Amino acid sequence: MIRSIDRQIIKGTAQRLIRNNRIKRETGLYPLSNLFLFITMRCNAKCDHCFCWQDLNVGISEMSVEQLDRVAETVPPFNILILTGGEPTLRRDLLDVMACFAKRRKVDVVRINTNALCPDKLVKMTEEFKAEFPDVGIDFQISLDGLKETHDGIRGVPGNFDKVIESLQRLWPLQQKYPATAVNVLTIITALNYKQLYELNEYLRTHVSPDIYQGFEIVRDVNRTAWNILPEIREDDVSPKNMDLPPVEDFPRIIADLERINSHSPWHADAYRLHTIATLKMIETGKPQYPCVTAGSAVGVIYSNGDVAHCEFTKPFANLEQFGFDFEALWQSDAAWERRSQIRCCHCTHGSFHGKAVEYSWRGIAGMLKQSL
Ligand code: SF4
Ligand code: SF4
Repeated sequence: MIRSIDRQIIKGTAQRLIRNNRIKRETGLYPLSNLFLFITMRCNAKCDHCFCWQDLNVGISEMSVEQLDRVAETVPPFNILILTGGEPTLRRDLLDVMACFAKRRKVDVVRINTNALCPDKLVKMTEEFKAEFPDVGIDFQISLDGLKETHDGIRGVPGNFDKVIESLQRLWPLQQKYPATAVNVLTIITALNYKQLYELNEYLRTHVSPDIYQGFEIVRDVNRTAWNILPEIREDDVSPKNMDLPPVEDFPRIIADLERINSHSPWHADAYRLHTIATLKMIETGKPQYPCVTAGSAVGVIYSNGDVAHCEFTKPFANLEQFGFDFEALWQSDAAWERRSQIRCCHCTHGSFHGKAVEYSWRGIAGMLKQSL
């Protein structure tokens, strides 16, 4: 018996795929769905698994609110604006940036990827955003990589675990207070934490809510979890300073834990969970799993200095400044199309793209159906 929430998820995913396939046949591109905006490259943590650590706190420039407002004006409507970095909450004008996209009704949801070191800021920001834009979704993706000692060790910040739990406990009730508000956890799986995934999930279900959603991603690294990227477009710096993958012989244990965690999830049809499990297979065999159809089409990346890339493992192909901050002009430019022609042969485990690719494949939808039975 399929639960009604799973039926809705599968039906919605299949309907979107039919629509998106039709648009792609007509225009050559999927409509933009997820736009990653690295809003700052400043950060107050020192995570071992950070793949952009070389760019942090070195003075990389940030687009102004006015420039980002022009981006918001020119981008076609899309689903999720993902504010990331660096730590997005370090930008004092974060709410103004969110408002640029919300007031123009360009997004359904603004997602904030955060290390949750500042619970007061997160709560205040939610209250203020929902007061002005009650219909636009706000969604937090909170990083948590292990129980107290493990998390604080990986993140290089004593007390980080307690701040994350405080943030989760204070944000959770806001989901009841404001519609279209969501609070999720994302855990990066590494050699240091893979043995405590289930224990961590149990802690969250006990101390935050039995309905908490926790996503998982295997630590990514352009050297070890990406294949066949053309050397001239490969972004060679995207690698953690100090982090190992879990040993391959323990992958079955990780898969079993992820499946056990999925059985406690508020929904079982979970494309992202399928992605995580498929990436373990990709690492083990080096073979592609779900073809990367979303990079540079349904998903794009804007860096804080205005550089734009089709994904984070390939180099930027243009800067918004060259196009007067007109996103659509850049997205349809010769440079954008040329780069699309260069990313047809690679495959990688990057969740922002491979995770999305699961939703863009009938095999993925069949997998979601199987999960929910
Ligand atoms: S992973 Fe995120 S929170 Fe950690 S150092 Fe990198 S940008 Fe900062
Ligand atoms: S996200 Fe897609 S385009 Fe980018 S490196 Fe990975 S497989 Fe290639």
